[in-house]
Amino acid sequence: MYLTKNFALKEMTKSSTAERLGLTNTPTMEHVINLVNLCNHILQPLREEFGPIRINSGYRGPDLNKAVGGSGTSQHCNGEAADFESSKVSNPDIAHWIEANLDFDQLILEFYDGKDPHSGWVHCSYRKDGSNRNKAMTALRVNGKTQYKDGLLS
Ligand SMILES: [Zn+2]
Repeated sequence: MYLTKNFALKEMTKSSTAERLGLTNTPTMEHVINLVNLCNHILQPLREEFGPIRINSGYRGPDLNKAVGGSGTSQHCNGEAADFESSKVSNPDIAHWIEANLDFDQLILEFYDGKDPHSGWVHCSYRKDGSNRNKAMTALRVNGKTQYKDGLLS
């Protein structure tokens, strides 16, 4: 089942961790509707601008979220967020394009190392109720700990 022209439900729920641990990762109808909105407003416009976008992590059911050590309030658990990248365009370029062109809730350039254009990934969320904060951040690993800074630092 395709959620938008280029994004299938399957790629938004696929997880190698879930497969490895035998966890089911099935969204509710409400979560599927959130995924449709995320694809419509964030991922499909990116696809049209940059070509294929690889989804690293989309929807995470409670068991999978626990297994990957995700935050209990993660928007991945509602189908409102995805982690993704492109093999063509750098992660900072994707993040800056989203910030300049799209309405989003939270945009995080995660663990980009400042050298390898494909290091890290981009996290972006979208809320269908319209309360999108357009909050851009950068996540850095400092001495093994994650730090969040306001804005896109690259
Ligand atoms: Zn994420």
